[in-house]
Amino acid sequence: MLTACRPLWRLLFATEGTGFHGLLFAASLFLALLGLNMLLLRLLSPGRTLRWMLGVLLVLAAGASWFADTYGVVLDSEMLRNVAQTNPAEARDFIGMPLLVRLLWQAGLPIALISQARLPLRVWTRSLREYALGALGGAALLLVAALPMYSSYATFFRNQHAARYYIAPANVIVGSVRLARKTLHRPPAFSRVGEDAQRMRPEGAKPLVLVLVVGETARAANFSLGGYARDTNPLLRQKGVYYFTDVESCGTATATSLPCMFSELPREEFKLGPARYRDSVLDILQRAGVAVSWIDNQSGCKWVCDRVPSERASAYDIESCAAGECLDEALLRVMDRKLPQAARDGLITLHAMGSHGPAYYRRVPKERRVFEPVCDTERINTCSDEKIVNTYDNTIVYTDYILAGLIDRLAADQQRVDTVLLYVSDHGESLGESGLYLHGQPWMVAPRVQKQVPMLLWFSSGAPARLGLNTDCLRAELGSKASHDNLSHTMLGLFDVTTSVYRPALDLLRDCRRP
Ligand SMILES: [Zn+2]
Repeated sequence: MLTACRPLWRLLFATEGTGFHGLLFAASLFLALLGLNMLLLRLLSPGRTLRWMLGVLLVLAAGASWFADTYGVVLDSEMLRNVAQTNPAEARDFIGMPLLVRLLWQAGLPIALISQARLPLRVWTRSLREYALGALGGAALLLVAALPMYSSYATFFRNQHAARYYIAPANVIVGSVRLARKTLHRPPAFSRVGEDAQRMRPEGAKPLVLVLVVGETARAANFSLGGYARDTNPLLRQKGVYYFTDVESCGTATATSLPCMFSELPREEFKLGPARYRDSVLDILQRAGVAVSWIDNQSGCKWVCDRVPSERASAYDIESCAAGECLDEALLRVMDRKLPQAARDGLITLHAMGSHGPAYYRRVPKERRVFEPVCDTERINTCSDEKIVNTYDNTIVYTDYILAGLIDRLAADQQRVDTVLLYVSDHGESLGESGLYLHGQPWMVAPRVQKQVPMLLWFSSGAPARLGLNTDCLRAELGSKASHDNLSHTMLGLFDVTTSVYRPALDLLRDCRRP
């Protein structure tokens, strides 16, 4: 408990100090957690399963504490959902010697000791009594230790939202139960949204193609288009893009952000559970007659593309793919093949690998590294912050290269098709600020860097006139507050879809277009 809850103790001493009160509170919390663990252990292990359950809990606690120590992440049900939805390639980035070593000393050693202990055989009345006594004893210890300092507990756990997620292994157990409850909940009937969707298209106009690039883990703070001191957007800078400087994400992890940004509901009304059984904006666009497609270079579309044609980017490219993973270069190959086929109005969604961590170095081919030295390992906690930032910034420069490459391809075909490119990242990232790494903090407590995302627009030469868009007006709007809430409605507006679920106030281009 002392070693497995290290982030909790660190947080406690950082906020409460190491004076008399801090130490007293720590002692009280230690005893309370001891009681909590006794209670949990007893409740979870009826009869003679005690030894087994203790082993399981030790492994859970060791694994959870390794994640918390290494990446500063908190283990709530959403983080466990991310773990459960991880594909083998992503998992490979995490599983390695350090985790194994941690499991060995923190769980293996105590398990070996426990297995030596002899538990005498008992008649069932006696074991029942022990079961009850153990549970009651745990509960009593918890109360006796915590009650006298109740106000300290209330202040600490109310102000430090992350603290309760650091209590291992209870965090994993509570998170798993919550996740299971959310997941096992009987699937509700599928609800269709925007069934009245339809659109008018100008007679004889060229095809209009929107290329939507869903970025991954790109944070706004490291885009030089938004003021970052390093030149991380050397190519986009020359492409005449419209960069939004204040964009907030809907979630702090792919599993929540994607369903939310493709829902027509704004974040405050959005619920992740039902979203799986509900139309996304892709369904609405498709229903209105737009040719929608999704090409994935990542861990899937989290159900938003289930009813539209979808493919893996690896089907278009072999050179930049290895071990089931492709560099985003593959997206350029996708566009080389897809764009010439575009004969009618369509939306091509490209789900990029972007800056997916912790193995940032694997997102960029060696010859495209700009900043050195880099962190050449997924164990980013072993690298200096300077190296981590260099490696991450290289992924942003690489994203700049990919987006500029896509724009070049669209520009080369602009006599034939009117095109718009819209890029937005799914969430940001922590790069060691306040000891935090990666992303996925609960939205309410997540730092700004995990929630501020880059977003930009580019138009082919004929697109603004065709859309009746005043680009000076748009340029003046770029500093206004925007968010993932705007994505669905801006897309519906771009394709002039009329539907009762369209909210003009959330369409970023609405005010700058001639009706
Ligand atoms: Zn993501």
